[in-house]
Amino acid sequence: MPRASSGMDMNGLIAALLRDFAAIQKSKQRMWGYKRAASAILTLEEPIESLLQPDGTLRRIPNIGPSSTRIILEVLQTGTSPTVEKAIAESGETAEVERRRDLRAHFLSRAQVLAALRNKKLTGPRLEDYHGDLQMHSTYSDGSQSLEDIIEAGIARGYSFSAVTDHSYGLKIAGGVSMAELAEQHQEIDRLNRKHRGRFRLIKGIEANIRADGSVDMEPDELARLEIVVAAPHSALRVAGDQTARMVNAVKARGVHILGHPRGRKMGSRPGVTADWHKVFKAAVRSGVAIEIDGDPSRQDLDYDLARGAVEAGCLFALDSDAHSTGELRYAETAIAHARLAGVPVERIINCWPLERLLEWARDRRT
Ligand SMILES: [Zn+2]
Repeated sequence: MPRASSGMDMNGLIAALLRDFAAIQKSKQRMWGYKRAASAILTLEEPIESLLQPDGTLRRIPNIGPSSTRIILEVLQTGTSPTVEKAIAESGETAEVERRRDLRAHFLSRAQVLAALRNKKLTGPRLEDYHGDLQMHSTYSDGSQSLEDIIEAGIARGYSFSAVTDHSYGLKIAGGVSMAELAEQHQEIDRLNRKHRGRFRLIKGIEANIRADGSVDMEPDELARLEIVVAAPHSALRVAGDQTARMVNAVKARGVHILGHPRGRKMGSRPGVTADWHKVFKAAVRSGVAIEIDGDPSRQDLDYDLARGAVEAGCLFALDSDAHSTGELRYAETAIAHARLAGVPVERIINCWPLERLLEWARDRRT
């Protein structure tokens, strides 16, 4: 049974209990209500304890109804929610709830992300060390942001570059771009880069798909047309068997720069790839591939715990938002928070390098 202890993430604990409660609701409407409440708590900027008023009531939070508020107050008073625990025990779904609880390890709530960014005792990258984001999606695949939006939003965030990494043609389900569409995108990128010269540089990237055997779903001459190649797993993410060979092959594949969301896990729903990560990290160091911390709140992959192993192995890192809209570009902060908690040295983060060094490294890896 999850119970609060000192220094733990109360927002995360409460959101998890609300998700558990949502999962055992018989009515769809109630299920969605508790899910919305859980999301509201996870995206709160401040620790929920700070919203408790002297009279013992909770300050109003959007999307949190009276029954969710009751659960929150229970947790704040007792460290857990007897209401939720009793309902789980009576639902006959304890095993399924426990399974989902195991799939929420090492996720950070938004309040924890902001606390890690503020915490001066941590030695990893600071926000101001971060010069650009290297995984995101545009209207060319399944994103809603145009290339122009990406540039404007990047400049507003203080970046000097960003890589557009739409899905490769192999991933039809995510609107993968054909080579013809990619050629069109590259023309638009060239035009925009001329327009914003000296201010901002858009990098021609792709998120290629790692097949079951670890090969990448694009031909070498196609990969050679890109400046940054993120390779990421999108299949076999719920299987228990060991996939070390697949992931080692992926980091050894020619033309790959970044191993994107290495496990492909999703919060509370799937574990992602099982592998001997030390071996994968060592192989990545040998081939010079950067390991990504994907900052999408539902991914957080690698998380700080696994990232510590990659630091020890000597890996390079990429910290990315995996944004599909400009509002999601702030997800890069989640990745930076994990890197701070893992103590990733700034000089090993390719997003923190000056643009010229990054482009030179990327070029060297293509030849
Ligand atoms: Zn992906």
